[in-house]
Amino acid sequence: MREQTLAIHAGYDKDAQGTMAVPIYQTTAYEFKNTEHAANLFELKELGNIYTRLMNPTTDVFEKRFTALEQGAGGVGTASGMSAIFYAIANVAESGDNIIVAKQVYGGTTTLTGHTIKRFGIETRYFDVNNPSEIEALVDEKTKIILFESITNPSIDVADFDSIVTIANKYNIITCVDNTVATPILCKPLTLGCDVVVHSASKYTTGQGLAIGGIVVERENLVDKIKGNLRYAHFNEPDESYHGLIYSDLPLPLFTLRVRLALLRDLGATPSPFNSWLYIQGLETLPLRMKQHSDSALKIANFLENHPKVKQVNYPGLASHRSYTLAQKYFSKGHSGLLSFEVETLEEARKIADSTEIFKLVVNIGDSKSIITHPASTTHQQLSAQELIEAGVPSGLIRLSIGLEDSEDLISDLKKALA
Ligand code: PLP
Repeated sequence: MREQTLAIHAGYDKDAQGTMAVPIYQTTAYEFKNTEHAANLFELKELGNIYTRLMNPTTDVFEKRFTALEQGAGGVGTASGMSAIFYAIANVAESGDNIIVAKQVYGGTTTLTGHTIKRFGIETRYFDVNNPSEIEALVDEKTKIILFESITNPSIDVADFDSIVTIANKYNIITCVDNTVATPILCKPLTLGCDVVVHSASKYTTGQGLAIGGIVVERENLVDKIKGNLRYAHFNEPDESYHGLIYSDLPLPLFTLRVRLALLRDLGATPSPFNSWLYIQGLETLPLRMKQHSDSALKIANFLENHPKVKQVNYPGLASHRSYTLAQKYFSKGHSGLLSFEVETLEEARKIADSTEIFKLVVNIGDSKSIITHPASTTHQQLSAQELIEAGVPSGLIRLSIGLEDSEDLISDLKKALA
């Protein structure tokens, strides 16, 4: 099936009532046929529903549909994008280990990797996403994952997938891509050799700013990288908390299975069935919306580039952008709705952000409604001056998330605010 058809149908076999819309299975638990059935489910001899912290039929459709769009082998939904990122890290790293993360990532990912997991004894080593050759010097036998964004938020760089994957494969390290901004419609990292994808489903997936959620998806045959690999000993040794289960022996997508069986079980950041249903509604129109977001963003980027008050515009669809060549290589259907531009001063940036009417001052992206953000005073406020520079967020930077309004109205709004 082609993408738009998958977006509408993947993962849903109609229930006994033949309902066209995916039902919301709003339940905490499921009745077992008998104790043998229950025991088989707990021992993974049979797969089936146990408890909604671990799985739910509505969430299952969301996971299968998203996985189909990413061309992955398996997915697990989470309660937020941040929990998806944390679970991807916690699935492989423990105290004493290190992870390698791009400097240019979402502010929450910077604080998670730079502060919170440090307190768990996991060290983060950063590389410049525009210079992936820095990665090699950071690798040692305790390195567990390389994490980066396909299109970075808010600095809007495009990752050099080939270079990063080549280094990761040389050392047999799992790569994890936050594909939130690109969405699986514009970029499929798993087909570019990456191992795991994470998303904030709070953005383009619902598409209307309706719910917080996330997902982790893994590629086909990830077991090949993990089985027998000393870096990932806990996938190859008996899991005492699961009757001695050895994940790398299972004929199932093992990375996301372990997120489900160990991390959702013990930490419980599970999506609610209702939110999963919202993501399913969003996925149905995702391919159509990403085209519209991308077309409008390009028009607006062109307008801003020609405005005398604008120092610089960051949009990978512009020939002037530092990532243009990579964007041409990895993106064929558009460059998403996120762009940023820089004006001279922090005060000027604040004035613009305070003056727009259609663009709303909000810390979100990927909504049908256009959004303006001043990262230095909001999403990236907790970052030090040095961290701001490293994250590519100068104080005069304004981020725009281009919604689905008429692009001419959006340009008029910006024209007035910049006057
Ligand atoms: N990743 C990216 C690229 C984001 O932009 C965000 C939120 O803005 C997140 C992850 C975190 O997602 P959530 O807000 O769903 O936890």
